[in-house]
Amino acid sequence: MATVSLWQRPSRVEADVAIVGGGVIGTATAWALRRLAPDLRVVILEAERLAHGASGRNAGFLLLGTASDYASAVDRYGRDAARRLWAFTAEAFRLAAEVGEAEDVGFAHTGSVLAASIDAESERLRRSHALLAEDGVQTAFLEGDEADRQIGGTGFRSALVVPEGGALDPARLVRALARLSDAEVLATWRGTYVETDGDRVRLGAEGGGEAVADRVLIATNAYLPQLLPALADVVRPVRAQMLATAPAPPTLAAPVYSHEGYFYVRQRADGRVLLGGARHLHRDAEVGYADATTDALQASLAGYLAAHFPSLADVPVERRWSGTMGFSPDGLPVLGAVPDVPGARFAAGFTGHGMGYALRFGVLAARAILGESDDALDLFHAAG
Ligand SMILES: Cc1cc2nc3c(=O)[nH]c(=O)nc-3n(C[C@H](O)[C@H](O)[C@H](O)COP(=O)(O)OP(=O)(O)OC[C@H]3O[C@@H](n4cnc5c(N)ncnc54)[C@H](O)[C@@H]3O)c2cc1C
Repeated sequence: MATVSLWQRPSRVEADVAIVGGGVIGTATAWALRRLAPDLRVVILEAERLAHGASGRNAGFLLLGTASDYASAVDRYGRDAARRLWAFTAEAFRLAAEVGEAEDVGFAHTGSVLAASIDAESERLRRSHALLAEDGVQTAFLEGDEADRQIGGTGFRSALVVPEGGALDPARLVRALARLSDAEVLATWRGTYVETDGDRVRLGAEGGGEAVADRVLIATNAYLPQLLPALADVVRPVRAQMLATAPAPPTLAAPVYSHEGYFYVRQRADGRVLLGGARHLHRDAEVGYADATTDALQASLAGYLAAHFPSLADVPVERRWSGTMGFSPDGLPVLGAVPDVPGARFAAGFTGHGMGYALRFGVLAARAILGESDDALDLFHAAG
């Protein structure tokens, strides 16, 4: 095992707020805390380095709504909650655009496309279009060749075009948020326990070292049960795999989320095409924390390109990678209280959709830490 110096992991760290986990949710919370309470001393404690987890490995889609289409969200969560969740992510996108326009994070406001591959999915998109219109959100519903033309592909039944939404470089966003937050960032600081210390909270680090803070947020998403096994029911680890091609001619104008989100594809400004998904074809293999790609799933990604974007099928693949997502039982993230540790909260269960929630969720978590109210708190089963 590599050694760690006393300077890299001090024996004791004191802060007003300690955030465990340097992904997009941890850094968005630090960023929001700086805006709401500029004098607080905030420290981010990260097991590896900023954006080491899913936040540094995702496709960078900023989608509105939940992980499923609007009609499915209405059926699952009820009309009022679905409408409020949409508004929450619209605000998250507005905040991401504000940061994205000011910082060099590869932000593009392209809108986004949900694409249907079978008739049943197409009907849900048609219904989503109608329900969103009733709720004051204008989208376009296209069918057949019109849908294919909009997407830049072939073989899709229909497309729901959402004017809001876009994409960015997620790792650069995480680093920008950390910088803007002015928080102290300690890397190679892997938390091993959380406990009360009088009216404060104490965290321990692997290999020695502790942090003591008035308030703590555990923002480790999929890794939450490793630190707090009692919360294993909140989130389970699910693997996602991606690939990136060499630069290709312009094909896709906006991020495309198809096959109920089981495939997602976009093209960067430099021409590289990012494609991920196919987990539904390999469910048993795509669980747990292993950071690895498999030939079988990567072949499914190649099959998708051949079927729907044949002009891209022969473009060389430059990179393949995986990341660990944290899935919650109901598909929505949770902001909750750590049992028996007053002052400590956790944020987890972003269910493959954390970029879409991130900056607004950071504001929500920051307000909870500061004891301020937030009218979205009940959407995420927040306690305390
Ligand atoms: C391949 C892939 C593609 C995706 N595509 C998209 C997309 O396009 N759009 C979208 O909205 N979402 C997408 N997601 C999901 C999105 O990446 C996540 O929802 C989001 O990044 C979660 O952020 P987080 O900060 O909660 O967790 P993470 O980014 O996982 O951060 C948690 C951090 O905690 C650290 N950590 C873990 N344990 C400890 C410990 N004990 N002590 C200290 N630190 C610890 C980890 O090292 C990590 O840096 C994708 C995910 C993957 C894997």
